[in-house]
Amino acid sequence: MIFLFFILSVACFSQENHSHGVGRKLKFPDIPGYKTMKCDFHQHTAFSDGSVWPDIRVMEALMDGLDAISLTEHLEYQPHKEDIPHPDRNRSYDIAIKEAGDHDLVIVKGSEITRKMPPGHNNAIFLSDPNKLLVDDSIQVFREAKKQGAFTFWNHPAWAPQRKDGIATLTDIHRMLIKEKLIDGIEVVSDQMYSDEALQIALDNNLTIMGNSDIHKLIDWDFKVADGGHRTFTLVFAKEKNAGSIKEGLMNRRTVAVYRNLLVGRDEFLVPVLENSLKVTSAKYIGKYDVLGVEVENVSSVDITLQNQTGYTFHNNNEIILLKAGEKTTIEVKTIERKTEVSLKFLALSAVNAPNKHPSITIKTKIEATPQQ
Ligand SMILES: [Zn+2]
Ligand SMILES: [Zn+2]
Repeated sequence: MIFLFFILSVACFSQENHSHGVGRKLKFPDIPGYKTMKCDFHQHTAFSDGSVWPDIRVMEALMDGLDAISLTEHLEYQPHKEDIPHPDRNRSYDIAIKEAGDHDLVIVKGSEITRKMPPGHNNAIFLSDPNKLLVDDSIQVFREAKKQGAFTFWNHPAWAPQRKDGIATLTDIHRMLIKEKLIDGIEVVSDQMYSDEALQIALDNNLTIMGNSDIHKLIDWDFKVADGGHRTFTLVFAKEKNAGSIKEGLMNRRTVAVYRNLLVGRDEFLVPVLENSLKVTSAKYIGKYDVLGVEVENVSSVDITLQNQTGYTFHNNNEIILLKAGEKTTIEVKTIERKTEVSLKFLALSAVNAPNKHPSITIKTKIEATPQQ
């Protein structure tokens, strides 16, 4: 029985995590007009309730191949204060930026505004001086953040200690903050907590869709990196790789949240990131038969699951196809008659653009001419 349980749990992990072949550094292709930035804008260190020094967060980010991070210490919750007096709330950032040195990692100043619900916990990033956010009033603190040009987002709105039923719900205070443009985004995934309701709030209120690790201990431990796991993070589609461009991308809602193998975002960005992740490496009829072999390489770090909407049936698969991260998969398409090019439509089941809704993507390719006899 114990043995059987072991086998089952290994099988479960392999479904959730990307394959070992893909390597640790997270990979996603650029999309037309934008560079794809891998970002984690919600992390803690010993300067709030985290267990590590800020330099460790920089090393983890470099190991994961991230483009941008923020260390968002709780302003109001300082459990290590007796061991680490913390009069200057810029310290975490200062240590991180020094560690980052010449590495190509963007680090932005951030803080977690940590209040009871409402408005709960919210991050303000791209700050100039977090010390000025040490104000009592729960609304005034957002105004101060905005005065510094911050991008703000509602953290883990489904967090059970502040929302017993786990249902992310807007309050009048949130509606006011959104209306006054004091909240720009919302975490639809925080650590390993996904919320359909938060996604719906993002869509209804035109907020930026975010996913972050909210890491307190080690990325490797919490996200099972040795078993092929990766942290929760956000893809930001930016014109350039720098803080200003990434902020502009966030303010204009150009994001996709990545949680295990799930991509969460708006079609405008989900579709190109999925389509560019799937490169056709060969398309030709198999031998003398009229069965088309389309070899597709998934160049991203997540497994992608597709449902057939091509109008054809497949020779080696039912309607559901798993394209593993970093691997090549051949789809055998029964086109009945020979074609010179083909446009294959799929529903991307491992991506959501709204609760229970998946984007449609197209794999287009020319077909290599081969003898029919
Ligand atoms: Zn929090
Ligand atoms: Zn946090």
